Amino acid sequence: MEYSQYNVNALMYITPRPELVFTEGSGMWLTDNNGKRYLDYLQGWAVNCLGHSPQCIQDALIKQSKTLINPSPAFYNAPAIELASLLTANSCFDRVFFANSGAEANEGAIKLARKWGQKNKNGAFEIITFDHGFHGRTLATMSASGKPGWDTIFAPQVSGFPKADLNDIASVEKLITDKTVAVMLEPVQGEGGVLPASREFMQALRALTKKHNILLIVDEVQSGMGRTGSLFAYENSNVEPDIMTLAKGIGGGVPLAALLCKEEVACFVPGDQGGTYNGNPLITAVGIAVLKALLEPGFLASVQEKSAYLSKALLKLSEQFGLQGERGEGLLRALKLGSDIGPQIVEVARNMGPVGLLLNSPRPDLLRFMPALNVSIAEIDQMIDMLGQVLQQVKK
Ligand SMILES: *Cc1c(COP(=O)(O)O)cnc(C)c1O
Repeated sequence: MEYSQYNVNALMYITPRPELVFTEGSGMWLTDNNGKRYLDYLQGWAVNCLGHSPQCIQDALIKQSKTLINPSPAFYNAPAIELASLLTANSCFDRVFFANSGAEANEGAIKLARKWGQKNKNGAFEIITFDHGFHGRTLATMSASGKPGWDTIFAPQVSGFPKADLNDIASVEKLITDKTVAVMLEPVQGEGGVLPASREFMQALRALTKKHNILLIVDEVQSGMGRTGSLFAYENSNVEPDIMTLAKGIGGGVPLAALLCKEEVACFVPGDQGGTYNGNPLITAVGIAVLKALLEPGFLASVQEKSAYLSKALLKLSEQFGLQGERGEGLLRALKLGSDIGPQIVEVARNMGPVGLLLNSPRPDLLRFMPALNVSIAEIDQMIDMLGQVLQQVKK
């Protein structure tokens, strides 16, 4: 490898990585150190909602870096105020706290709910979360997650996260006690394998949480920012949650996250919450550019059109190769393989020539698709064509 003059083992080993170094990205395409190009259906794990290095992010970074990078979170800055105003104007929420990652935003949501419980519910602190849910990799967010094995690897867990089953309202109701302060879920479970919460379930959850005076928290780190074809996935089921978290898409590739809540829930007092980099103008300026692009007339309608096109094409592929169909919301979709060939498909697709294809298999019997929201129809056709070739080889 051209990069062998450096020791790759200077990096801590946390995941097996292919013997490649990616050197450039543009739109739906990545280029490696050998000059080979890849059609990228990962996009940094649903992060690059406008593709790799879009012009509007380049411009925002250059302009803001020449003006003001970080005055400290103890002072107001113009981009943070503008982005918070845009987010509240385009959602059901009133207040925003900016963070740097999805896990950090979710930690903030957990803290906010517990604080609200101290003030309003006699110290109730339990947050009901879901089997197969994913909320991040800090101790509390791992404890909130329902990933198999995560309850023991860094034991003891942070306590107070009983697990219910997605789309099973009785399983939630059963867990509610006088210690319960909130229910927290992803409107579409992403890492769990692209499993949408049904509209009926979201509505039943809202009714149940209202009845018991507990909070509804949506983790829209993956499902928010246009990914499902609406600006936020909660809109699809016509409910208004009390708290929402955002990350991934909101930064379009740079580290930005947000914790949003209704006015009645905004109960932090000075000293409760903060962070050195939170709401810095360099990164919130990018958030403004990204959100304005998503709010352009016709943008979300085009996400819906492309998701319908992708869904149909995946279904056709499924029929052609005897697979188990597809599911998802908007441009967060999964192809059900029917057998554990996912990892092999990922490998073969990446190694194809002359151009490769980058795919993700969150479970061995599933492929997940997270293209840029401005992916073209031609780039969908090309992916389907390439995946067809891979399936032909793998299913032989
Ligand atoms: C990715 C993800 C997170 C964690 O976000 P990080 O920025 O990696 O900390 C949390 N929740 C959901 C739903 C996610 O998809």
